[in-house]
Amino acid sequence: MSQQITIIGGGLAGSEAALQLAQRGYEVELWEMRPGVRTEAHQSDDFAELVCSNSLKSIRLDTGAGLLKAEMRILGSILLDIAEKCKVPAGHALAVDRELFAKAVTASLETHPNIRIIRKEACELPPGKVILATGPLTSDPMMRHLREILGEDQLFFFDAIAPIIDADSIDSEIVYAKARYDKGEADYLNCAFDRDQYYTFVDALMTAEKHEAREFENEFFRSDKFSFYENCMPIEELARRGRDTLRHGVMRPMGLELPSTGKKAFAVLQLRAENNDFSAYNLVGCQTMLRYPEQKRVFRLIPGLANASFLRFGSIHRNSYLNSPKVLNPDLSLKNRHDVWVAGQLSGVEGYAECIAHGMLIARIIAGEIESLPPETILGQIWRRLLTDPPKSTFSPVNANFGILPGLDENVRDKKLKREMLSKRALDKLLECHQDPLEQ
Ligand SMILES: Cc1cc2nc3c(=O)[nH]c(=O)nc-3n(C[C@H](O)[C@H](O)[C@H](O)COP(=O)(O)OP(=O)(O)OC[C@H]3O[C@@H](n4cnc5c(N)ncnc54)[C@H](O)[C@@H]3O)c2cc1C
Repeated sequence: MSQQITIIGGGLAGSEAALQLAQRGYEVELWEMRPGVRTEAHQSDDFAELVCSNSLKSIRLDTGAGLLKAEMRILGSILLDIAEKCKVPAGHALAVDRELFAKAVTASLETHPNIRIIRKEACELPPGKVILATGPLTSDPMMRHLREILGEDQLFFFDAIAPIIDADSIDSEIVYAKARYDKGEADYLNCAFDRDQYYTFVDALMTAEKHEAREFENEFFRSDKFSFYENCMPIEELARRGRDTLRHGVMRPMGLELPSTGKKAFAVLQLRAENNDFSAYNLVGCQTMLRYPEQKRVFRLIPGLANASFLRFGSIHRNSYLNSPKVLNPDLSLKNRHDVWVAGQLSGVEGYAECIAHGMLIARIIAGEIESLPPETILGQIWRRLLTDPPKSTFSPVNANFGILPGLDENVRDKKLKREMLSKRALDKLLECHQDPLEQ
């Protein structure tokens, strides 16, 4: 007898998972609440709608996004295949005609004999095997239900992300490791400012161009919900409260000196390691709504970061996601419902390609085809990240970048070469262990 599964949410992760499992003979019931109930961002009634940019980012193997797509190709992603058929010219990026893409995915789902589509909002998890793929804009009744079964503090409602930079791009002549007050272990790297450097930085922050929030985002940022979360206040908004606010707050220089004079610094911005290999660092307190080019310009004014290479830019937007390291089993099912898997952005992966890849991974875990992935792969590390409490901070969404990969055994100075070597290592490892059962 064929196996049955309910998939809730016909976005990127849910659509990929539905097609993967249907292709393996599962009887799939796919729930999608649109058009009856809408999200703030989706415009159409189609499945797999890209809500903002039409780009699935780079395909170059010297980028994390490019490596992820190469891994997805080996693992047999169906939506990636459709995206490639709907692509539009965009240099090294895989950009698609969004309408064509969503319509092609919708047609594949609607015509598949093993998929039954139910256009209805799911307000609770049904019994039996379920993939929950309701995304960053999961509807309120489902959020309430999740809060009941997982606990209030295991759900986040928005995402305030500080930029992450490549460790190799930090100037080690200027930046140094030391704990504030010189107490405890030197876990943080310090970027020390003198008076002029600090005010130049603060003035640049206040005058830089912001990302224009869309209407629903504006509503969100004006709401009480947002103003409660002081820790997520954009750094440029804090700077606007007064030119000295930052140096009395997140940039206080207590016990930290200027390397050039040995005297107390005027302000210090700290960098926190993103992984145990110390290959990527987070700019502490720098969650921001500045436009990406402005982030590059302004954050490169920080002493020691003049050549910073950005692995992920800062952002703030409405985003529901689970505290996955606390609530997920190693196979990405829920600890208190072993027959429910959470796929896509709701689980704390971030980005179109990442959500598709995650939907594919969950489907293949459920089908019993994948138990683990090599740690050298981007997808293997995304999986690991979802299960690992980050050192000294709360869990935040993870995307494909080289900072999450373990380093190479050898020291390679040329950055492009190093990235290509990381990609080659990942793909070799994946090919070694992977066989697509559908191709045998
Ligand atoms: C405003 C915004 C802009 C973004 N822009 C980008 C970008 O430009 N590039 C990028 O890489 N990433 C972007 N992301 C991040 C992310 O990659 C996308 O949100 C991605 O679509 C998430 O995929 P998903 O499958 O997890 O969820 P979605 O694609 O959002 O799919 C979830 C589906 O579930 C449905 N649903 C929700 N609740 C229920 C329910 N209770 N019952 C039934 N159906 C339900 C929704 O209608 C939706 O169709 C953005 C996110 C947001 C919120």
